[in-house]
This record gives sequence, structure tokens and C-alpha cells, in this order.
Amino acid sequence: MKSSIISEINMKEFLIYSKRCFINNQFIEATLHIQNQKIFKIYPFKNRMEELSFLDYTDLIVMPGIIDAHVHINEPGREDWEGFDTATKAAAIGGVTSLIEMPLNASPVTTNVDAFIIKQQAAENKLHVNCGFYGGITPTNANAIEDLIKAGVFGIKGFLTHSGIDEFPNIHKEHLEEIAPILKKYDLPLLLHCELEDDKVPKVDNPKSYREYLHSRPQHWETNAIELAIDIQQKFDIRVHIVHLSASEGIAIINQQKKKSAKLTVETCPHYLFFNAEEIPDAAPIFKCAPPIREKQNNNLLWENLLNDGFNFLGSDHSPAPPERKQLESGDFFKAWGGISGLQFTLSVLWTAGEKRGMSLEKLLPLLTENPAKFLGLEKQKGKLSKGFDADICVFNEQEKFTVSEGIIEHKHKATPYNREILKGKIIHTFVNGVQVVKDSELIELNAGKLLLKT
Ligand SMILES: [Zn+2]
Repeated sequence: MKSSIISEINMKEFLIYSKRCFINNQFIEATLHIQNQKIFKIYPFKNRMEELSFLDYTDLIVMPGIIDAHVHINEPGREDWEGFDTATKAAAIGGVTSLIEMPLNASPVTTNVDAFIIKQQAAENKLHVNCGFYGGITPTNANAIEDLIKAGVFGIKGFLTHSGIDEFPNIHKEHLEEIAPILKKYDLPLLLHCELEDDKVPKVDNPKSYREYLHSRPQHWETNAIELAIDIQQKFDIRVHIVHLSASEGIAIINQQKKKSAKLTVETCPHYLFFNAEEIPDAAPIFKCAPPIREKQNNNLLWENLLNDGFNFLGSDHSPAPPERKQLESGDFFKAWGGISGLQFTLSVLWTAGEKRGMSLEKLLPLLTENPAKFLGLEKQKGKLSKGFDADICVFNEQEKFTVSEGIIEHKHKATPYNREILKGKIIHTFVNGVQVVKDSELIELNAGKLLLKT
């Protein structure tokens, strides 16, 4: 009895030490004093205290937990695709301590408050990391947007092309114009999937050909949509966020507008930075996403933009589906669900590819922590190791290599394009709200996550 009381006390108050804590964008020696789910104090040296347990991580990196602002979880309604339990376990193993979930894949889709409440209920007792939500805009729910915002969504997401989910139809300019004043009133971001379809695409002969799939979603679909997004941003002076940029041809127009307004933001995703179209085999729709993974030359320009601080943050866009939906047997890119499964590996993937490109951890880590926190309005509470902040922390060994295999994957479905990749950099420990949930890369504690509502 006595020992369990002690362990409960220690769970609430303890010390984390490393020679390399990521504080104020630098790696410095420090001891973090965790108390009541928060970082109570930071001592700039090794500071043992007799009554508190002292977790000595020597020279491993101690950093703020990753905030993934772009995740599809599919529950309720499509929990055979992915669910809160499996997704947030994968997140914890990957050092992701907070994630924000997209509105389209659940059934019902999150386009009104009732559906939002149903989703929150579906997440109950299944959150192993913190989880918040976006609401969605479709052609018919403009009148529900204000209530969704009041109920605590972090932004409103819309598609400018078919979303892949029939209950979540794409919107047009007029729908965005209708809700722009509401977004402006609450200073909440409009997140846009930027592809605008036209018929200036080649006819498809072989649906198993990656080249043909790539050419079916050309760069100009993205740039046309980006122009529309910028137009709306400028006209209403609202926050507009371009999700998952893949087309390098969009970079110049985005950067030009970003110079005029900080309200335009843009993200890209690990898969656009890690894979190249040239290496994707035919009949391998596990690599299918929309917009597609483009050629190496294009991706080099995404990297250049990333290294020049052109992206506001990086998000996984984890969007898995069962093997049948991914058409893994048929190999048909056109029938397959478009979405990459990779939530668990974001940091390792980005560090593996980024180090080769000369990217420092000092540059990479804020793109996964401080910057998404800022985007979400959580910058006073999450995304940094700072006094008074939530004790969402992970411990990272940037030298350790591992091979991705089904046995280590916590996602509901084990198929992922990262399978068999050798990645450099491994999450060793994860703390969520001051509770150690991952120890030595194994889950040890469940349900430490909280529901995040935008206030
Ligand atoms: Zn997405």
C-alpha cells in the first residue's frame, strides 16, 4: 500500500535531467521539475532533490512533445480504418503528445455541434495523448460553423476538390465567402485542401502506373487552388492555412503573400520530403496520397523552402485505411484510398531525411513543437520546455537507428510506406501531462491524454 502511494506521488512530482534539454532553441544542461502535470521549475544544472525521483537521461535529447496538427482518426463510424486507441498509442510511441483530428473521416462527419459531441464521446477513455479537433465546412453547413467554433474546434477545414468521403463534399468560393466573417470574428484558421480539379489531365491507360496517377493530379490543380485560397485570405483578412503542400510551383505565390500577411500559413508532410515519385513502384497504392508525392526535383524545392523557413510547421497527415481500401492486392492507384499511414514515425522520418540535407535539430524541432502550438493558439501552454507549461515531453536519441517493421507499429493497420525503412533517431520516453506513458520505447501507461478544446 505504502509503495503505491509513493509511486503516485512520484508520478505527480519528479525531476528530469539531461545535458541536452531543448530550451529556447538551444541544447542546454538542465533539470526539469515536474509537478501537477506541469513544468513547475527549470534548474540550469543537475539538481537532485532528496525526496523526488530523478530521471537521469545523461545526454539524450529532452524536448517538448511533438504537436501533430494534421491527423485523421476515423472514429466513430470508420473505426475499422483507424481509431482513437490505436492512433494515440502510435502517437505516444512516436513522441507525439498532442494531435488535432480532421473532421471528414468519422461518421457522422464533424460539420455540426451534435456530430462534434458524438466524436468527443467516441474518444472517451481512449486518449493516450492529448487530442483536439477541427470542424468541417461543406456546401450545406455554413450556419453551423459559429456553434462549432464556440464548442471548441481549432479551425475549420474544407476541400476544394472531392474529399474521398461522399458525406463531406467539397466547397466553392461562395461557401468560403459566406463563413469568412465568422472566422474573422473568432480569428480561427480556415484549413484548405488545395487542389482544384479541371480536365487538363492525360487520359488514364494503366491505373496501376504511379506515373499516370501522378499526372492525374498535376501541379496546376494545387496552384489554382492556392490562388483561390490567397484571394480569400486577402479579401477578408482571415487566417488561411494551406495543408499538405506538394507542388513546388505553389511556393513562390505563397511566399509572396506571406510577406504581406502573417495570416497565410502553410504546412507540408514527411512523405513529400522522404519519398520521390521516381522510386515509387507501380501497383503500390500504399504510397497513394492527394496531392501526390512528386518527383525528386520538385521535392528538392520543398526542402529548399523548408530550410529557408518557408513552411510554418510539419504535420503527418496520417490517414490510413484497411488494406482492401488501399487496394493493396489489386494495385489500382485510382480506386485506392488516398492517405499515408505514418503518425508514429514523423520525427524519425524527418530527421533521417533532414540530416542528409544539412537540417539541424534546432531548425527541425520547432517545426514539430513550438510552431504548431502557435498555429493552434496553444503557445502559452504547449510546444516548449518552459516554466508553467504542460509537462508534455519526449526523450529522443538522435543517433539510434531502427528498422520499421510490423511488430513495432501501433497504428490499427500495419501497412505503411515506411515499412522496412531504416530510420535514424528514436523516441525513447514520452510524458503526457506529467505522466510517463512510454519508457524505453514501450507503452507503460494508458489514458493520460486529455481532450483539447479551443478556448
Ligand atoms: Zn489530411
